[in-house]
Amino acid sequence: MVIGAALLEDLLAHAREEYDAECCGMVAYDRDTPDGSPLAVRVHRAENVFASRTRFEIDGKELLRTLNEFEDEGWELGAIYHSHTHTEPYPSQTDLNFAANWPGLEWVIVGLADGEPEVRCYLIEGADVRELPLEVL
Ligand SMILES: [Zn+2]
Repeated sequence: MVIGAALLEDLLAHAREEYDAECCGMVAYDRDTPDGSPLAVRVHRAENVFASRTRFEIDGKELLRTLNEFEDEGWELGAIYHSHTHTEPYPSQTDLNFAANWPGLEWVIVGLADGEPEVRCYLIEGADVRELPLEVL
């Protein structure tokens, strides 16, 4: 993921505010850039319907509404983010199962276990988890 520092800070602020539960949200990517590489342009804070420390799910209506908003702007859904409040920022089995429904999407996980948030990006394909670089502009 390539993201501006202020936008990333907004995402991290969301993770810190929801410390009692996993936060989750969606990141819009703009592919209309000079070199064609996607740039994160919006962070949408979603509600975790489970309000849980161990799992998250974005309400289907909110997901659809946000996808439409992104499309209206000429963007696309590039990444889904969520936090791990007490474990490492590595995809859980629940995450792997969820990711199976979203091929090609990047997964951003914010780990809060060590105080300072740790952000990691992944591409998940089946049981194959590949870490992607995070570039902060
Ligand atoms: Zn997770």
